[in-house]
Amino acid sequence: MKPGDDLVILGGGCAGLSLAMRLAQLGEQCPQTIIVEPRDSYVNDRTWCFWDAPPAQLTSLVRHRWNRFEVMAGDRRLEVDCTASPYAMIPASAFYETALKAVAGNSRLRLLTGERLDGEPVRRGDRWEITTAQGVFRPRWIVDTRPTRPPRRGDALLWQSFLGQEIRCETECFNPGCATLMDFLPGTGEGIMFLYVLPTTTCQALVEVTSFAPDPLGPDSLQPMLTNALAARLKIARPQVIRAESGSLPMGLSPVQAQPHPDWIRAGLTGGAARPASGFAFQRIQRWADHCAVQLAQGLRPCAQPAEPWPIRAMDDLFLRVLRRYPEAAPDLFMRLFAMRDTSAMVRFMSDCPRWVDYYRIIRALPPGLFLRELGKTRFS
Ligand SMILES: Cc1cc2nc3c(=O)[nH]c(=O)nc-3n(C[C@H](O)[C@H](O)[C@H](O)COP(=O)(O)OP(=O)(O)OC[C@H]3O[C@@H](n4cnc5c(N)ncnc54)[C@H](O)[C@@H]3O)c2cc1C
Repeated sequence: MKPGDDLVILGGGCAGLSLAMRLAQLGEQCPQTIIVEPRDSYVNDRTWCFWDAPPAQLTSLVRHRWNRFEVMAGDRRLEVDCTASPYAMIPASAFYETALKAVAGNSRLRLLTGERLDGEPVRRGDRWEITTAQGVFRPRWIVDTRPTRPPRRGDALLWQSFLGQEIRCETECFNPGCATLMDFLPGTGEGIMFLYVLPTTTCQALVEVTSFAPDPLGPDSLQPMLTNALAARLKIARPQVIRAESGSLPMGLSPVQAQPHPDWIRAGLTGGAARPASGFAFQRIQRWADHCAVQLAQGLRPCAQPAEPWPIRAMDDLFLRVLRRYPEAAPDLFMRLFAMRDTSAMVRFMSDCPRWVDYYRIIRALPPGLFLRELGKTRFS
């Protein structure tokens, strides 16, 4: 049995490595930390996007920025200038490379790849006992970023499911200066479907088909829609597929997982890191990692993802309920939001740092009817 470590991080993905990077910067003050990660090696398995405006972090890892974006629904097209806060993209490979280098640079951190737990952590006195093939660890604290269970209906108000392919074409068919955030496709029953296109050159782009629906959809269900959208919508016949990515993100996790113990906290997506209205989590994880590392540096227990301020929680919740009940209204609602004269109000709201006036601007941009009807239904049902 090993003498006690301070901390075990379960899962070396975005949240686990984000925390590890901050701890690595503490030098000798870094708690003795083990990171348990089942994958053997890291590949470019996802693309993280966010609005590049304060308080965005890790912006040195950004590999592409778009100063314009478009939203399309049928024959309506809206193009927006977002030069003040560009839409930015970090490939997972850039993040993993930086994080792994930081971890390797501090001997107080150990990343165990290709490793899994043998059973769940067990409480023994004031420590945890964690058994793996490489030994038994006895940390004071656990930060657990493992997924708890596969996505399923009822665990979130809506699931954002997507399948994307990074493709290369022989002809020039993209504008690398403009990202397509939403190009609405005909809906399927309860769901909202749209294309998301991130062009990095005139011949190369990440093209994703995305669904917002009460049921999560796997990549196999989304593949025919992606193939069809590439051919019919983008007129791209046989692109070279460089890589693929997919996922199902909770929008309005219900209820947020209770923390197992004050000394064993969940973080990352299962700890409620995804912003309900967008499913985006990357920048929220960075802010949590900052706070958590400060706590640990002071010898305090790790902290969980902070709860949303109530106005954001209430507005996200109502917006998602409206989308869920009236999916056919989604194109119009998003068009109105993105058409707001002051894009920075929407960016601040989506980046978790709205001013009071931004709430007012967003409420004013949306049609009151559906929202009042939904409020009435929620209140009296
Ligand atoms: C394809 C994709 C694209 C995304 N794009 C964006 C985006 O553009 N912007 C944005 O803000 N968010 C985005 N997200 C959402 C979110 O930022 C990511 O999902 C992010 O990776 C979540 O971090 P995490 O640490 O919770 O999960 P992960 O990064 O998935 O890390 C969880 C880790 O736990 C490990 N693990 C699994 N089982 C075990 C086990 N039994 N024991 C130990 N470890 C285990 C996994 O191997 C993994 O390394 C995207 C998600 C996906 C999947």
